[in-house]
Amino acid sequence: TGKDSSGGVRGRVRVAVRLRPRNAEEVVADTDLPDCVELQPELKRLKLRRNNWDSDTFEFDEVLTEFASQKRVYEVVAKPVVESVLDGYNGTVMAYGQTGTGKTYTLGRLGEEDTSARGIMVRALEDILAEISPENDSVSISYLQLYMETVQDLLHPANDNISIVEDPKTGDVSVPGATLVEVKDQKSFVELLCLGEAHRFAANTKLNTESSRSHAILMVHVKRSVKGKDSALSVENGSASHMTKILKPPVVRRAKLVVVDLAGSERIDKSGSEGHTLEEAKSINLSLSALGKCINALAENSPHVPVRDSKLTRLLRDSFGGTARTSLVVTIGPSPRHRGETASTIMFGQRAM
Ligand code: ADP
Ligand code: MG
Repeated sequence: TGKDSSGGVRGRVRVAVRLRPRNAEEVVADTDLPDCVELQPELKRLKLRRNNWDSDTFEFDEVLTEFASQKRVYEVVAKPVVESVLDGYNGTVMAYGQTGTGKTYTLGRLGEEDTSARGIMVRALEDILAEISPENDSVSISYLQLYMETVQDLLHPANDNISIVEDPKTGDVSVPGATLVEVKDQKSFVELLCLGEAHRFAANTKLNTESSRSHAILMVHVKRSVKGKDSALSVENGSASHMTKILKPPVVRRAKLVVVDLAGSERIDKSGSEGHTLEEAKSINLSLSALGKCINALAENSPHVPVRDSKLTRLLRDSFGGTARTSLVVTIGPSPRHRGETASTIMFGQRAM
């Protein structure tokens, strides 16, 4: 999101880039080779090496190095979106990047043993549960997988082909076939995520695929009943004046937070022997490129956001534009071997701004 000439904020998508540290293998294999990127977090800049002498520089809303804590990542990427959901506006947080660069680490870590490791989903729920009133408000979740243009319910795998319903008047999107579970506390939320993860693994084993080939989508519905401000009316009554209270009925405010752990953005080797892989590759390309087009349209403040091209963008329709907020974190690895994929991830992020 840049600033336009009048100083206003242009675009509606906040884009952060997050670099993961080298893994053990990369440390050993490429000790003598420099990382393919160099980060300048204070300047919110990233340099992508072209060769030993030259690099291209890119600006992001936030640049998160390999030393950025999970807490900090939550605060810059997701917290503003969560706050606006609590205020009644839809919001989306998405992670885009090559498989193995930290999308699930960023969004989905449960941190059961070590709370500092918790990812965005768990931290978001913690903030939401802390803010709402248990008597008047409610939080419910659905957890879905989108694979090959089919929506599956991760909380109830028998629902393996869920339709997306759009309200023609309001534009609201719903998935009435998906299980919606009310969440009262953090512990039961983490249990639901675990259950969803187990179902995801089982479903993908059955389909003979990997979770990196599908999108995982957590939907958090927040319903709050906001008390209307009681106004006081001063009534003159002879010598004394007394106040009469006018009670306003509570207003129900609904908003949805959607957290999307996207399929790996890497180009899949289409020469792969099984036709399966080719179909998967086509389907991932379709949904990620449709998403890219929608995000570009948002960034350019275009009145037309082409949501109809894929199920992914249809599902996200009411989280795009209007009063909704979107935050995208693009995840990259440092390895010089993956420079090409890293460059294409950076470009996806740049086009969103
Ligand atoms: P993705 O979901 O994009 O395929 P993962 O989140 O599974 O990637 O991360 C791949 C590996 O890298 C995992 O072993 C994960 O623990 C590790 N990893 C990812 N990001 C970080 C990070 N910021 N710090 C430390 N380890 C990380
Ligand atoms: Mg993952």
